[in-house]
Amino acid sequence: MLRDLSGDTSLMSLNTATVREQWDLKEIINGCVRHKIGGISPWRDQVSAIGLDETAKRIEDAGLRVTGLCRGGMFPAADAAGRQANIDDNRRAIDEAVTIGADCLVLVVGGLPGGSKDLADARGQVFDGISAVLDHARSNHMPLAIEPLHPMYAADRACVNTLRQALDMCDGLGAGIGVAVDVYHVWWDPDLEAGIARAGANSQLLAYHVCDWLVETKDLLLDRGMMGDGVIDLKGIRTWVEAAGYDSLCEVEIFSAANWWKRDPDDVLKTCVTRHQTVV
Ligand code: ZN
Repeated sequence: MLRDLSGDTSLMSLNTATVREQWDLKEIINGCVRHKIGGISPWRDQVSAIGLDETAKRIEDAGLRVTGLCRGGMFPAADAAGRQANIDDNRRAIDEAVTIGADCLVLVVGGLPGGSKDLADARGQVFDGISAVLDHARSNHMPLAIEPLHPMYAADRACVNTLRQALDMCDGLGAGIGVAVDVYHVWWDPDLEAGIARAGANSQLLAYHVCDWLVETKDLLLDRGMMGDGVIDLKGIRTWVEAAGYDSLCEVEIFSAANWWKRDPDDVLKTCVTRHQTVV
């Protein structure tokens, strides 16, 4: 039994990448208020552009739930100094997530270090990097959410590519970590339903991101579709997500250089809200 999203815009969260080319974070926060969107998930570069404390205040004043901060991760590096710098940056990201009251810090874990072809080693570096920051996250009560990325990003963005792989890593790491399920990355996975159920059973389902997969996709990074314009069975996946006990917001996250980033941002938000109520 799916929750009824129609008429309740508060169950939608906006990942700020969706209108990042048109608006700065202040304008995005105001846009969420205008369109009665319930949550927001900002990116760190947008936060730092207007200031961390200013961001926290504006989000609180707007009454928005922060469904995540994007993003930590990017752990692998070619040498020890690089790995330590990445660990330090993730500690800062955890602190920032705490300051803005985020539900979780989303981790895009990183891919192969420059010059390497050793994917197993990169995955080991991810595990070690998360291990090094997890106590800091736990003591600050900031859950970390591994976002498995589509395998086309294994080299440059994330070498954790399936929900099962992410959950196995979580199990090895212990408390304080779970997953962000983004339909763009996992919709194709034959084990998706089982993975979502497994995450829910262990209270590891921390965030749910929606967009759509266009046929054809013209750019692997920047051609995500608006919900309803592609081939992802959004209602089917949300059925699994809610059956697993997820009761937080659906976060709309659309990178779309050639289409949605070129449109009037108020029209984009209006479309997001309408689609969220009808096809998600
Ligand atoms: Zn995502």
